[in-house]
Amino acid sequence: MSEEFQHIVCPHCATVNRVPKNRSAKDAKCGNCHKALFEGKPVAVSAQTFATHIERNDIPVGVDFWAPWCGPCRAMAPAYERAAAKLEPMVRFLKVNTEEEPALAAQFQIRSIPTVMLFKHGRVAAQTVGAMNGPSLEAWILHHTAG
Ligand code: ZN
Repeated sequence: MSEEFQHIVCPHCATVNRVPKNRSAKDAKCGNCHKALFEGKPVAVSAQTFATHIERNDIPVGVDFWAPWCGPCRAMAPAYERAAAKLEPMVRFLKVNTEEEPALAAQFQIRSIPTVMLFKHGRVAAQTVGAMNGPSLEAWILHHTAG
């Protein structure tokens, strides 16, 4: 039987790793930098690595577009972190600071924050605007990652 792999982008160095599907990716290490591929928390990304994360990951990728001055964004941050701790390695959780990365915010036409987007193989599968509490956020992610 041939082994099946899935591609997981390293949160530290953005190297695309091939991880056997039958082994939990939770304990997998990056072949390049040898750090853990999943640490149970959101990964802050810049425009440099953003495309690699959303296009090369075989798992769905959630992105929280936020800014430090945005109260609702800060209010939702702990819920987003808990969702990452719970739902990794099924889903990758990214954060984009729209103040530091205005080009990404423009590319995805972010008009109001927080905006959470869910990507599957580089395409936007779902998006939602406005802060959500933990249970709603997790339910929303699970609903759109299923199938
Ligand atoms: Zn790495």
